[in-house]
Amino acid sequence: MLAALLLSAPCLATAQKLDLIIRGGSVIDGSGAPAQKADIGIAGDRIVFIGSSNGKQATRVIDAPGLIVTPGFIDPHTHTAGDLSDPKRSRNDAYLMQGVTTVATGNDGDSPKEIGATLAKWEHQGIGTNAALFIGQGTVRGEVMKMSDGKPTDEQLAQMKHLVEAAMQQGAIGISTGLYYAPGSYSSTEEVIELAKVAAQYHGIYDTHMRDESSYTIGLLGSVRETIRIGREAHLTVMISHIKALGADVWGQSADVIKVVDDARREGINVVASQYPYTASGTSVTAALVPRWAEANGVLLKNLDDPAVHTKLINEMNQNLVRRGGPDSLLMTAPRDKTVTGKTLAAIAKERNESPVDAAIEIIKSGGSAVASFNMKENDIEAFMRQPWVMTCSDGSEGHPRKYGTYPRKIHDYVYERHIIFLEAAVRSSTSLPAETLGLKDRGLLKPGYFADVLVFDPKTFQERATYESPRVLAAGVRYLTVNGRLAIDEGNLTTTLAGKALKR
Ligand SMILES: [Zn+2]
Repeated sequence: MLAALLLSAPCLATAQKLDLIIRGGSVIDGSGAPAQKADIGIAGDRIVFIGSSNGKQATRVIDAPGLIVTPGFIDPHTHTAGDLSDPKRSRNDAYLMQGVTTVATGNDGDSPKEIGATLAKWEHQGIGTNAALFIGQGTVRGEVMKMSDGKPTDEQLAQMKHLVEAAMQQGAIGISTGLYYAPGSYSSTEEVIELAKVAAQYHGIYDTHMRDESSYTIGLLGSVRETIRIGREAHLTVMISHIKALGADVWGQSADVIKVVDDARREGINVVASQYPYTASGTSVTAALVPRWAEANGVLLKNLDDPAVHTKLINEMNQNLVRRGGPDSLLMTAPRDKTVTGKTLAAIAKERNESPVDAAIEIIKSGGSAVASFNMKENDIEAFMRQPWVMTCSDGSEGHPRKYGTYPRKIHDYVYERHIIFLEAAVRSSTSLPAETLGLKDRGLLKPGYFADVLVFDPKTFQERATYESPRVLAAGVRYLTVNGRLAIDEGNLTTTLAGKALKR
């Protein structure tokens, strides 16, 4: 064994045979530095050089003049745990075809309960992209307190801390919350801080779908301040997920949010955010319109029929509908009752000759529906996108094109067509910024020694093809994509390779 090593070592050093050279592309390294013409050499799962490949040999050479070469994109907010666990979907096609090589999931407070077992399963079964997991605060609270809207006892809090600690020890990259959703919404800021402190002990981060992105309860700015307070008191990086100004009451508040975040960053708190480039969010009819008190203790359906609360419930649902832009702004994208697919709430109400809220209640009773909720303004989206602390995320969910189109859409629409940001900034926001934030070692840059997650796309054809009407259409324009040095896309086509790794903090 030792002899074999000694014999083979000098050969490796003198004439290292590369597995792959990507030659002559426009290389954007992910740091924000300008593009440069260069060749990239890959051996095994690592990048070994960037520069001139003159005199070097490789098993495979890809000619890339006219193409853009970047690190594979890293998506810090997805809903891919189900996809990755299902051998039929674990290649993660929707993401590979956008140039994404790493996804985080378990966001919005909702994660698999068993972090270690889930990561091990992915590693064992094989996954197309790399993947990392948050432990969900809603999941943890649900384990200990079910759907109670009460304050935890000391013992319950201790149990929750223990679950977070176990998850962090098993490799979670941090804790996520969905304070807008039940049961996360029943948690006080202090309760969340206690759990975030546990994640901080293991160098994890705090990722949040904030309590209010609009004017439902504490307001958009109140929620940003709550997030910052959690970062300050628990001593960890805080990431505002899918940052937005949701609804007419808060349109234009991006400027105030940016100021509050910049102030906190100057104070030394690492506040960052993720964002998807669409004016519609994706949620459910229930989450969009029903007040959280009506869901407490899992009695939503009973409350919908209870005459004692009916008037209050209808009034609040009407207010929430106005807040979101009215019945024309809610598009049913994935209903249980297929007859309403692709229709707005306004159209459904008209057809049935009933009020929009009554129509919404019927939809909820018949199994609910995912909705595209058109509630954002382009000027807020653009203002957030320009900030150096805002990274790209898809928040991909069924029934919204963002799962299939986020990354090419940002580059095609916001860089090439509308010139909102430079290509180098768009690439940084999709690579090194999320890698640093999530603590992913040796990823997010094109750099010798780093993992060879490399994207080669054609700037002329890199484009989203999914739409609100047909949200499940794969993107176009990725020519080549390596995940840990192996080609996941070759000449525009998905390969059968499952080269992703389960990444631990
Ligand atoms: Zn969310």
